[in-house]
Amino acid sequence: MTSIQKFIKYTIENVPKSFENNQKIEEHVNNLEADNLLGTCPKCGGNVTDKGKFYGCSNYKTKDCKFSLPKTWSKKKLPQKSLKELLTKGETSEIKGFVSKNGNKFNAKFRIERKQT
Ligand SMILES: [Zn+2]
Repeated sequence: MTSIQKFIKYTIENVPKSFENNQKIEEHVNNLEADNLLGTCPKCGGNVTDKGKFYGCSNYKTKDCKFSLPKTWSKKKLPQKSLKELLTKGETSEIKGFVSKNGNKFNAKFRIERKQT
């Protein structure tokens, strides 16, 4: 069985300048309430939480932010630890145990890319 390593890239569009503002991020960190908070939304600076079937931004309704990530990729559940890494560092360390359509196992890293407009 071969092990294929690949990156799964997640592109964020239209990142507003407010995300670059560290003070705003600190405000968000100080306002952490939810127990299931996983990190800061790379798109709007809001809170990313566990929505049950997927991970998503808590500003979905208030700011119409559509940042979300599926929980399961190639039959592998994305661990919360990896998601936190992704939101903090912009990429994860290697995650093992993905299964491709033809049944081969492979390892992958997730990386968020910010698309400049
Ligand atoms: Zn957001």
